[in-house]
Amino acid sequence: MKRDDDISLDCKIAEVQTLLDMVQKDYAPAVFANSFGAEDMVLTDVIARHYPGIEMFTLDTGRLPEETYRLMKEVADRYGIRVPVYFPEPAAVEAYVAQNGPNGFYDSVDLRKACCHMRKVEPLKRALRGKRAWITGLRRDQAPTRKNLAESEFDAENGLQKFSPLLDWSLSDVWDYLKQFNVPYNALHDKGYTSIGCAPCTRAITPGEDVRAGRWWWENPEIKECGLHPDKQRVIAISSSVPDLAAAGQTQCPEEKARGRVPGKPRAS
Ligand code: SF4
Repeated sequence: MKRDDDISLDCKIAEVQTLLDMVQKDYAPAVFANSFGAEDMVLTDVIARHYPGIEMFTLDTGRLPEETYRLMKEVADRYGIRVPVYFPEPAAVEAYVAQNGPNGFYDSVDLRKACCHMRKVEPLKRALRGKRAWITGLRRDQAPTRKNLAESEFDAENGLQKFSPLLDWSLSDVWDYLKQFNVPYNALHDKGYTSIGCAPCTRAITPGEDVRAGRWWWENPEIKECGLHPDKQRVIAISSSVPDLAAAGQTQCPEEKARGRVPGKPRAS
């Protein structure tokens, strides 16, 4: 099927696989940070079926919705994998709650960011320790804070390469994939939740709202990130860190080959 941008879903899937082939081969140990959101279910399906050399993990903040835990169980049943879970440090949570209350994140942006740091950023650092690359399900059109991300960039904060194979996928690409391959997804998506994080910081959106409008809805969209994916990262020269797969004859997608596109390198705008 042809997409709005004239690139078929099959071609986009082939491109993701070309990138993941390279990551599995050249960046071991590489790990996929799985939030069990819709985009991450695409990558869960691809990686679980085709990339045994790429590990997975998830972050349990302690405030996740029940539907996310149910999806974790579905994934375990469907793919025969139990995704390792990283939790926040108990002492940090106890200190935060003692000082700010259980829902202190509503009181200020600083307290919200402190909660995200304690429950997400610090466990992420532990999960990434010793890895050479991590993989995310970020898409460029998810939020203003994600416009400047690259499909492959050096994550200076965590000291490893970061790959976002779905960066140029549209939301409809994601849902077409999930339907085509009958991939399980979070039941909250059927209740108007487009982006799902912690229960107290996520709400359903109304028609016409931005897909991430339901995350930290009380904050300005320009600053809505939890710290896992900072907008301004130091991007190392991608051309020197990512092999030229097209030149090596490994580009699997004729449409992209015709355009001279190299997986792992940005599309020309
Ligand atoms: S999303 Fe909300 S509850 Fe979850 S870590 Fe961030 S501030 Fe805390």
